[in-house]
Amino acid sequence: MSAFDNFEIWWITGAQLLYGGDAVVSVDGHSKEMVDSLNGSGIIPVKIVYKGTANSSREVEAVMKAANNEDKCIGIITWMHTFSPAKMWIKGLQALQKPLLHFHTQYNDEIPWKEIDMDFMNLNQSAHGDIEFGHICTRMRVARKVVCGYWKNADVQEKIAVWARVSAGVADARQVRCLMFGMNMNNVAVTDGDRVEFEQRLGYHVDYCPVSTLMDYFKKVDDADVDALVEVYKKEYVIKIDESGEEVYWQKVWNAAKAEIALRRLLQDKGATAFTTNFDDLGDADINDPNFVGFDQIPGLASQRLMAEGIGFGAEGDWKTACLYRTLWFMQQGMTKGCSFLEDYTLNFAGDRSSCLQSHMLEVSPLIAVDKPKLEVHFLGIGIRKQQTARLVFTSKVGHGIKATVVDLGNRFRLISQEVECIEPKPMPKLPVASALWVPQPTFEIGAGAWILAGGTHHSAFSYDITEEYWEDFAEILGIEYVRINKETKTHEFKQMLRNNEVYYLLNKALK
Ligand code: MN
Repeated sequence: MSAFDNFEIWWITGAQLLYGGDAVVSVDGHSKEMVDSLNGSGIIPVKIVYKGTANSSREVEAVMKAANNEDKCIGIITWMHTFSPAKMWIKGLQALQKPLLHFHTQYNDEIPWKEIDMDFMNLNQSAHGDIEFGHICTRMRVARKVVCGYWKNADVQEKIAVWARVSAGVADARQVRCLMFGMNMNNVAVTDGDRVEFEQRLGYHVDYCPVSTLMDYFKKVDDADVDALVEVYKKEYVIKIDESGEEVYWQKVWNAAKAEIALRRLLQDKGATAFTTNFDDLGDADINDPNFVGFDQIPGLASQRLMAEGIGFGAEGDWKTACLYRTLWFMQQGMTKGCSFLEDYTLNFAGDRSSCLQSHMLEVSPLIAVDKPKLEVHFLGIGIRKQQTARLVFTSKVGHGIKATVVDLGNRFRLISQEVECIEPKPMPKLPVASALWVPQPTFEIGAGAWILAGGTHHSAFSYDITEEYWEDFAEILGIEYVRINKETKTHEFKQMLRNNEVYYLLNKALK
């Protein structure tokens, strides 16, 4: 079963009855063949369902309203086979609440120069039908993705596939409940923001959950379940016992397994697919009390393992990155190189290879590991419980990647992405945490500078698999600002674009 089996994309062919019923019958046949072919391509992971031709304002409105009401439908593809006068799309587009992809293609590929006549022209007139449709979308300020090209070409199908994955991610985001165990870290600005507006614009629901509730779950975990999970760890990871000694090692690993079970059960019971932690809020039990029951440190190993299964995670109460990571993982299901929550930690100045060490105290997803992670126990001297604690230690793959974040600018959300080149770090024997090392593109100077000018976070959702096109489609569907930093970025132009966007987003609301 594919991860996207529960979703559908609806295909609507625009036509009109001007050319007679025979033309519409042909249009219908062509549309079915095209949809079948796209479904059979193996490129588009969501099933496309042909919903027939729309020949009047009434028909357009009816199918758009049906799409809104069908939970399985995550988006609409429109294609204007014939000239479909666009006033008939006004009411339907006003009603449509699902993502829209306008496919500018044509059933026939090359013109049959010797045979072409007016009948052929009437059956192959997307060239002007799609232009008419595009005009009304632009005039009505309808957000959509426009894909232009021949429907049998793999590169064209890939663009539809990106949008399909993103539309599935948007549908999932509306189902996300993110639990905050504790608040965001005191005094931190970038991890804070307007959670009501966040749900209105991006769909994610963010809830506070008392740490005491998590501790209630922790107390109820059976020892036998913990023992069983420790056995799973032994199979999945390299066991590496260092300065803690064997006894402390296994005790801390056992504690980490118990924390994981508690977290997993609570998230499941609450229907939550994202969460945040805060190292300063682990419950109020006294660890020096001989009867202490609770987390002896942040549940780092649990966070790493849950992230690998697609549960959104943000450290220090960073609910925005937790939600974004969930969507990133969701969109890229089936891809192989991996994704993770990461944090800019330490700079490495080395000329044109100047880079930034990505890590966290513990929480990096093993999906990005270059080889089998080592399960280690070391002291973590931060937060309210300074203790030895278990974590997965690894370095990450070398190669091209993209990091992303969403920030609250007060009057809007801004999504920022940045291309990075992950390079090989040197051994760090005294830093036993998972990490990656990357060079921001186009260079450290321009790339890191642009990220700072855009107001980016020190946390990000990182992927080796996806491209900027995903984040562009995501922002377009949600109607939020998107700025990207890549090999083409020039500082002066970037600054000017940020200024232009300030004006655009002020005026944009007035236009709608
Ligand atoms: Mn952090």
